Amino acid sequence: MKTYPTPPFDDQPQAAPGSQHKMHPVPDCGEESYVGSGRLAGKKALITGADSGIGRAVAIAFAREGADVAIAYLNEHEDATETANWIEAAGRNCVLLPGDLADRDQCLAVVEQTVAAFGRIDILVNNAAFQATHSSLSEIADEDWVRAMNVNVTGMFRICQAAEPHMKPGSSIINTSSVNSDMPSPSLLMYSTTKAAIANFTAGLAQLLGEKNIRVNSVAPGPIWTPLIVSTMSSEDVKSFGSQTPLKRPGQPVEVAPLYVMLASDESSYVSGSRLGVTGGKPIL
Ligand code: NAD
Ligand code: MG
Repeated sequence: MKTYPTPPFDDQPQAAPGSQHKMHPVPDCGEESYVGSGRLAGKKALITGADSGIGRAVAIAFAREGADVAIAYLNEHEDATETANWIEAAGRNCVLLPGDLADRDQCLAVVEQTVAAFGRIDILVNNAAFQATHSSLSEIADEDWVRAMNVNVTGMFRICQAAEPHMKPGSSIINTSSVNSDMPSPSLLMYSTTKAAIANFTAGLAQLLGEKNIRVNSVAPGPIWTPLIVSTMSSEDVKSFGSQTPLKRPGQPVEVAPLYVMLASDESSYVSGSRLGVTGGKPIL
């Protein structure tokens, strides 16, 4: 059984969205370990926020399972290029789609460019997110609140709406929510509100798209060691990150990716409208 890093972690502040290659320890996205077995052979995937963290681990796993992968991300070109290299090393095609998903045009463009390259979308993973921590209500800038809604919720809606005509029966949409969607931590008020909206949207969309046989599910991760954490949390919270879970450590992105593979694959043909936790032992509601 492989062992993974445990707290305490070093203080390592970075400006958001943060660079994975500057982190220590570097998050484990399965680069050296994930073994595929053809579970997504021939499928075409679009994953947002897939330069680093959970999205990168999902991209690597999807590619090793046989899928071509388009990657939307903000501006972390070095991280994104590394992810693309892993996808191509698995013998699959990769499209890099940098740009700000707070903008409607960019949401439409990532779908258009994926379809132009791959012809269709079989798997859509809405995973990009904007997060910031605040210690009081008054501290939340109006523009930050609007940005969180735009990137995390409205962007997801726009991408789903644009992608639907390009998704055949049997396709799968997976949205990244959080344990915070039903157990909000007060310092993440803005972010947690978006994560609850994502969980709710997922449950409703699964019913709306059922007739087309497009499955829609959400994943609720607990604390996972990624650039999002070191670029938005206090040094104290980074230091002890993951220690409050029963497993007493954060998860690594590679430990989250198998859930996405399962939800994306045809094996899960009757799984829709679900919210699956990957939390290191903390129950979700
Ligand atoms: P991450 O920083 O590696 O990934 C998030 C990505 O979102 C970034 O790489 C960035 O490129 C992208 N992004 C941010 N703003 C964007 C914008 N405006 N336009 C386009 N792309 C943008 O961090 P992660 O932790 O792997 O995050 C992936 C998902 O997991 C997020 O939805 C996050 O909310 C969720 N999540 C993370 C944790 C955790 O503890 N790390 C816990 C629960 C949920
Ligand atoms: Mg990143």
